[in-house]
Amino acid sequence: MLSDQRLYYTEYEPDRLGHLRKDFERAQNELKSVNSRLIPYWNGLHWLSNATMKQPDLLSVESTAFHKNDPDTIFLGEQNGVRFFSVDLSGYSEEEALALLPDGKFMDIRLTPVLKRSNQAPLLVYTRGLYIWHSKNLFCGLCGEDTKQIDAGHARKCCNCAHVVYPRVDPAVIVLIEYLPEKGEPMCLLGRHRSRHPKMYSTLAGFVETGETLEAAVKREMIEEVALEVSNIRYVASQPWPFPSSIMIGFYAQAHSMDITLDQDEVLEAQWLTAREIRKLVSRDELILSREDSIARYLIQNWVNLNLEIGRLKD
Ligand SMILES: [Zn+2]
Repeated sequence: MLSDQRLYYTEYEPDRLGHLRKDFERAQNELKSVNSRLIPYWNGLHWLSNATMKQPDLLSVESTAFHKNDPDTIFLGEQNGVRFFSVDLSGYSEEEALALLPDGKFMDIRLTPVLKRSNQAPLLVYTRGLYIWHSKNLFCGLCGEDTKQIDAGHARKCCNCAHVVYPRVDPAVIVLIEYLPEKGEPMCLLGRHRSRHPKMYSTLAGFVETGETLEAAVKREMIEEVALEVSNIRYVASQPWPFPSSIMIGFYAQAHSMDITLDQDEVLEAQWLTAREIRKLVSRDELILSREDSIARYLIQNWVNLNLEIGRLKD
């Protein structure tokens, strides 16, 4: 399980065609085109066809299947020459929502391999993040009156005072800390978080605070969680994480000591492991890494693969 270095939800990013959001009438006309697709969403879940067919037909329906021009349809953008929209059916019961669609079911993207491994996965998490944001911004933060969707689903405007709000994401840093001893193999620090499986270990993470740089957030979180000062902070990758509204920003960082003190409100246990040890423990089912779709897994896998590769070259 250590060979897969895929970073889920980041491949096949759509072209968002933001200039069309202000001209939603034109974008809506695309809905009448048989080349446009509509992604159905229902209470945090995505629709999946029961039929055996190719993507995108598996995860979206022909936009012409919905004859009414729903003002709350969201224009997502274009992928592989196809324009994508999404529709929120959360106001219906599950049975009613499914009755509007071809034979299928609503599924959790994180628990459904065909969804999370799909080329359309970035469109699905994009849809999810937007609908979660809409559901939390139905009322104006200034005057408390109703808001309505504008800009093809990419903003909301107060019906009373015209205050406009835009979708927000909560940035979080996620960090693999390594220690390079003078002799011997590099080690990384993996922690076991509260409420996780007893054998599940992962990287450390925390939210970026207001007025803080990403680098400062990495340093602060590592002090808070394991009392380690880190330097040589290197950006690796980022991942949209609308569970419910984050973007995960992944780093490698270097510690100059192995002495840790755990903040047990967050990290119950932590251990320093070499790449070989991680490979061995995982193969024996004595260590479970973070879920396959997480950037934590991606950071760990890359670090292990890199260090095994260097080890082989040295041999
Ligand atoms: Zn208002």
